[in-house]
This record gives sequence, C-alpha cells and structure tokens, in this order.
Amino acid sequence: AEIEEMRSRSKSKKWKKNIQKHFDKELTKLQRMNPQVAEFSIQKNYLDLMLDLPWEEFSKDKFDLKRAKKILDRDHYGLDDVKKRIIEYLAVLKLRNDMKSPILCLYGPPGVGKTSLGKSIAEALGREYVRMSLGGLRDEAEIRGHRKTYIGAMPGRIIKSLKKAGTSNPVFVLDEIDKLSVGSQGDPSSAMLEVLDPEQNSEFYDNFLELGYDLSKVMFIATSNSLSTIQPALRDRMEIINVTGYTIEEKVEIAKKHLLPKQLKEHGLSKKDLQIAKPQLEKIVEGYTRESGVRGLEKQIAKMVRHAAMKIAMEEEYTKKVTNEVIVEALGAPKLERNKYENNDVAGVVTGLAWTRVGGDILFIESTLSKGKGQLNMTGNLGKVMKESATIALEYIKSNADQLGLSPDIFEKYNIHIHVPEGATPKDGPSAGITMLTSLVSLFTQRKVKKSIAMTGEITLRGKVLPVGGIKEKILAAKRAKIKEILLCEDNKRDIDEIKPEYLKGLTFHYVKEMSDVLDLAL
Ligand code: ATP
Ligand code: MG
Repeated sequence: AEIEEMRSRSKSKKWKKNIQKHFDKELTKLQRMNPQVAEFSIQKNYLDLMLDLPWEEFSKDKFDLKRAKKILDRDHYGLDDVKKRIIEYLAVLKLRNDMKSPILCLYGPPGVGKTSLGKSIAEALGREYVRMSLGGLRDEAEIRGHRKTYIGAMPGRIIKSLKKAGTSNPVFVLDEIDKLSVGSQGDPSSAMLEVLDPEQNSEFYDNFLELGYDLSKVMFIATSNSLSTIQPALRDRMEIINVTGYTIEEKVEIAKKHLLPKQLKEHGLSKKDLQIAKPQLEKIVEGYTRESGVRGLEKQIAKMVRHAAMKIAMEEEYTKKVTNEVIVEALGAPKLERNKYENNDVAGVVTGLAWTRVGGDILFIESTLSKGKGQLNMTGNLGKVMKESATIALEYIKSNADQLGLSPDIFEKYNIHIHVPEGATPKDGPSAGITMLTSLVSLFTQRKVKKSIAMTGEITLRGKVLPVGGIKEKILAAKRAKIKEILLCEDNKRDIDEIKPEYLKGLTFHYVKEMSDVLDLAL
C-alpha cells in the first residue's frame, strides 16, 4: 500500500521523463526488497526524498519594487545605500528574468543586519527563505552528500535546504561564506563554486540523490565578515555590497524602532510596560556596547526587558520609564568609558584608528623608555606587519634625529617599549604606522599629543604616508569615541568623499603626505 501511495504521489511531480524512469526503477527495487533488511529503509528514505523535493515548483515572484522597498524599510532602519543596491539588483532581475546575474554578497562587521536583510529580500520577492551556515564547514560531502552505499548516507545540505524550502526558487542565504574552510575531506569551496556557477548549476549533482538538480532559479545571497578569506574564485562570482556599521544616533533609532519592540514582544510585554527614551538608549549604547553592529545592544536591551519582566512577575514596584538609575540596576555599572583617551595625558600615548574583524575601533599606542642598550620591545599581541611598522618608525626617527632635535646617543642609552592594549586582542596590518611613529617622537621629545585627535596611515622608511583601508568603519568608530580631528593620507580623501556628510559632522580631517606633516599637526 505504501508503495502504491508513493507511485501515485510520483504522478503529481513535474518530472522529466528520465527522472520519472529513474524513480520507477528505484521503486521496483524497493518492491523487491525484504522490509526487514536495513537497505529497505535506506531505499525508502531515498524515494521519499525524491518525492519531497520540489521539482520545477516555483513560487511566483512579486516584482513590485515599491512594495519591496517598503518591506526592506519596515524591517531595517537606515542602510539607504544598501537598500538601493538591493532594489537595483531586483530591478535587473525583473527585466532580464533570469538568475544569471552575479550572486549578491552582503559584506560587513557582525550584527549589522546582513542575515536579516537576506530574509527581508525573500519576503520582498515573495519567495521562500532558507539559510545555510557555511561557518566551519570543511567536508565536501556536507554540500554534495554521501553516496547511498555509505553507512548513514544523507543528501548534502543544499538538497536538504531545498527540501525544507519546498520550492525550487527560494532565496537561499549562504551565511558566513568567508568561514568555509578547506578540510581533509575534499574542498568544499569547489563544490560551492559549482553551486554558484550559472553555467553548471542547472545540473547540480548530489551524490545521494544521484540525479542532477536544477539550482539555476535559486536566488543565492551570501554574507561575509571578511573579504580576504573568501576563496578568490568564489569572490569573482559575487557582487559585493558593503554593509558598514552604525553611528550612535542610528543605533538609538534602531533600538527604538526595532530592538526594543522586538524584545518586549518576545517577553510578552508591551510598550505600556516599559519605555526607554532616547537619552537612556544612548547611555546603553555608550556605556555597555562597543561594536559596529547592534547585536550587543540587542542583548543589553533584552536584559533591560527581563529586568522589568521579573519585577512585573514578582509584583514589585518598578519605574515604567527607564531612568539612568534603572539602567545601572539592570545592567550594572557602565563597562566602557567612552572618553578613555582623554585620560591618556602623557607623552608617548597616541590614538590610532583600527579596523578589526568586528568593525572599526580606536586603539592606543603607548611607548615608554627604560635604561638599556637601544632594544625595541613590542607587546600587545601584534602581528608581523604591525611589528615591521614599529621597526620602520624607529629607523625613521634614528635617521632623522637631527631634524627632530634628538641627540643620537639617546638610542643607545635606553630600551624602547611599544605596547598596544588590550593585550589579548590580536592586531595586525600596516595602518598603525603613523601612529607608532608619532608615539615614539612624542616619547623622545616629551611633547604630548593634541587631545581628541586620531590617525591612521602606513609609513615608509623615507617618512611618506600611504593610504590604508577600512576608512568608513574607522571614521564611525572615531565618532563613537568622540574624536574631533583625524589625520589621514591625502589619497584617502576619496574614501572620505564617499561617506555621507551626516556621518562626518563634528569631525575635522587633515590630509597629509609626509610624516613631518603628521608631527606638525599632532604634537
Ligand atoms: P553576523 O555577521 O554576525 O552574522 P549579521 O550582519 O548577519 O551579523 P544580523 O543577525 O542580521 O547580523 O543582525 C543582528 C540583529 O540586529 C538582528 O536582530 C537584526 O534584525 C538587527 N538589526 C541589524 N541592523 C538593523 C537595522 N538597520 N534595523 C533594524 N534591525 C537591525
Ligand atoms: Mg549573520
């Protein structure tokens, strides 16, 4: 009876002849099997998979771009450029009516809304949504499946996800494509290449399914925290959309419009039970989070809501309008002092702008002298390139001691120590070059660095300043830290010109070419 049911289900599938034939053959095999043996259930699972998988079953696209825009706006605050790029992409899709355009890749620091944008895109298009996390995936078989003869064989995750989606044209989010790693069991990125290649993916072969499956109508969207670790061939297939971090003002808006209502709902409360006004939201952002995105902020808000929920459940008195005192009660004393750099009122300490995996950040470079023989020590978990920057900086100072007004024997009498807190965070890259040099000059001359100034740039041995990357992220971090003046290489002006003017409010930029300009401006 079971077999008859399967046969009748197969009639409703829009299968090509060869697939129907394959199914009938496999079904006959099942019929001949003894239901007691293990192979029977494997074979039955296999046929169920064929029946459950959507074949040429499409949802109809909603190409109403105004509606699409509305949905993107409803779910996400700000991100104007990103939304515009997405709408443009959908417009092209609508006109061309195929999926041969490059894959979208949303790239940016954690918690800025990449994954959740993917979901909104699915809704905007009226497509099913599936997500597959590639983080830590190292076995090709996870993508492509195991052959049926293998014990415990299963289809790969692409096929499994499509079964879950229930249509052959879902929006398929490939989360964290940068964390795909090469393991011992084949190369998963080459399997991913096949998945994403419009020339090949109409016949994607899964080892378990033993049939080609058409992926060409699937809309793939990748997300990534870093571009450098994406396999180059994969990266070539993708159109990168940069999702940068948020300013404090934007975070406050996101918290007010999205994060707080969401958390209230999740805890079964309503706006009447708890209100957090903007100044208090700002306190939470500044005192308890340090990030480009809003994931940490969402957690802190959840804590605030839990705090209120507990009071309500215990029928205790509490204030519905959150005050500063309530924040401290719920979250503890503020963990981060935003003006940390103002305390560094000693020669040898300089604020740099860094770009890390979690987005932009400010960092401090400290250097000190001690009696010794001219040794250079570096601490703070610095990478090779960063250490080289320090060596270059010191060499430059040595060869320009005259101009800097330093006596040459100073280098033989002291040891120099450069430290970059926090020691546990790994740091690398050439962009702290000018900061290190400024720190050393400040130390040797005992001239303090101007307040509220930060810098980023690479140096050469001859004292030229070179442009560096991650400018937008760095600028946002500087603003968060209430920096006022920023020193940059002249060639980075282009990057600044691309940033929305409202992000730059309150900041003054100095563009420099030579190290001597940096020292003139900073000391
Ligand atoms: P990761 O790189 O760590 O995966 P992500 O960019 O995918 O991070 P999400 O998980 O999409 O981050 O976002 C974290 C949370 O912040 C989600 O709840 C999301 O809805 C919310 N969020 C992020 N940006 C916005 C925004 N602009 N408006 C409203 N909510 C936002
Ligand atoms: Mg994500």
